[in-house]
Formats: sequence, C-alpha cells, structure tokens
Amino acid sequence: MVILPKLRCPNCGKGMGPIKAKEVPPANTYDECLRRCPRCRIGATNAKSFSKIKFIYADGVPKPPTQATPPQEAAEQDAAPEEAAPQDAPPDKP
Ligand SMILES: [Zn+2]
Repeated sequence: MVILPKLRCPNCGKGMGPIKAKEVPPANTYDECLRRCPRCRIGATNAKSFSKIKFIYADGVPKPPTQATPPQEAAEQDAAPEEAAPQDAPPDKP
C-alpha cells in the first residue's frame, strides 16, 4: 500500500489527497493522476516526493504563465591565460 501525501491545488489551494493506492502508476495525463482537483481540472503526478511531483492540466485548462527563466549559465571560469613559456633563444648562427 502506498500513500501519496496531501497536496494543495496550485490554482485554488484545495487539498488533494492523501490518497492510498495499491499501485502507483506513472501519471502522464490528468486522468492518470490519483490526486486531482476536479474543480480546476489539475492533477498531480503520482510521485511520492514533493520535488518530483508535477501538475498536469487537463485538456482545455489554461496553464498559468510560467516565467521563462533560462537556467543560469555556470559562470564561465576564465582560466588565467597560460603564459607562454619563455623559449630559449635560438642559438645564433654563425
Ligand atoms: Zn483547484
């Protein structure tokens, strides 16, 4: 028996769950979500850990605008330019 923890609907804040389930199938659509907000037609995927839960919006539900924040690029570490090793002066030719 698996118990999916309680969540809150991201739209209206209504509680969803907790849900007991024998098996927890992966949820890829709203209908497969075990925790759903029928009013908003938003489902939460069946992950147990909060960090892995995604919300799935049923067809026709406008998604809230997401702020497109590009992943911050790792600060490029400018390695100190390697100084060219001083080359021995070529021997003077006679
Ligand atoms: Zn809701």
